[in-house]
Amino acid sequence: MNQPTEPKADKSGVRRHNLSLVLRTVHEAGETTRAAVAARVGLTRPAVSSLVEQLLDLGLLMESGKTFSGQAGRPGTVLKPADTGPAGLGVEINVAYVTACVVDLTGTDRVRHTEHLDNRAAGAGEVLARAARIAAGALVEAAGLGLVPAGAGLALPGLVSGGTVRQAPNLGWNDVPAERLFADALAALRPATAGLPVASDNEANSAALAELWFGSLGEVRTFLHLTGEIGVGGAIVVHGELLRGAHGFAGEIGHTVVDAEGPRCRCGSRGCLEQYAGQAALLASAGAAGVPDLARRA
Ligand SMILES: [Zn+2]
Repeated sequence: MNQPTEPKADKSGVRRHNLSLVLRTVHEAGETTRAAVAARVGLTRPAVSSLVEQLLDLGLLMESGKTFSGQAGRPGTVLKPADTGPAGLGVEINVAYVTACVVDLTGTDRVRHTEHLDNRAAGAGEVLARAARIAAGALVEAAGLGLVPAGAGLALPGLVSGGTVRQAPNLGWNDVPAERLFADALAALRPATAGLPVASDNEANSAALAELWFGSLGEVRTFLHLTGEIGVGGAIVVHGELLRGAHGFAGEIGHTVVDAEGPRCRCGSRGCLEQYAGQAALLASAGAAGVPDLARRA
């Protein structure tokens, strides 16, 4: 996978592979030079220079003014991942807040807007319209920084498959086509986002993937990620892959029944883990049940 591909019949496929290899090499290095990239990937200097020119034209790499003396050849201009241009839009809808962020190609969170509001009190369409409004605000600020969304990720507090929230007991959602509703609402506010790819998943799964790809776990590739807010969620990563399970909902431990005679849960069952370890239960057992906005004050 890290080897350059020799020219074969499909030249555009080879070039695409080599562009990706050079881009990944610059990302891994942070700051580097054409000569160092060539030495690393095993392509010639002219070949790497041509690939780098295309990546500069596409706005995926940038040059900094300083030069950098590597081991090989003359000092070269420093190359680094672009901090303008293509960016990712991340949106999390939780029970008590909505957050939208814009992340640049270096992985830096450049814009982050959070609004605390009770999403239980509104219907799914209204909540997704709120999320689109907050996302649109974040995109306006991002545009001022020269960032353009290339795709969006939607993290949702429930069981998600095929772009639809199958069940989100804490929001009272069943079979809500969240991806489509969000994309339509965002495109209505910012027509330039029409057709923007949107991917959605459970918030604990999304958080576990973020830990896997960008977190501080180092070589750890097998772990359980737990989230605890108003709901309790979990995700299992095994050998660097998210374990989805037979029905796609592996790791969702919040509605595991701890005590079949326990208190009634919003999911319709009794004695779910969330009734003991969720935010409302913890606040009640701490004698602070009347402090609903504790998380906001933290
Ligand atoms: Zn439950």
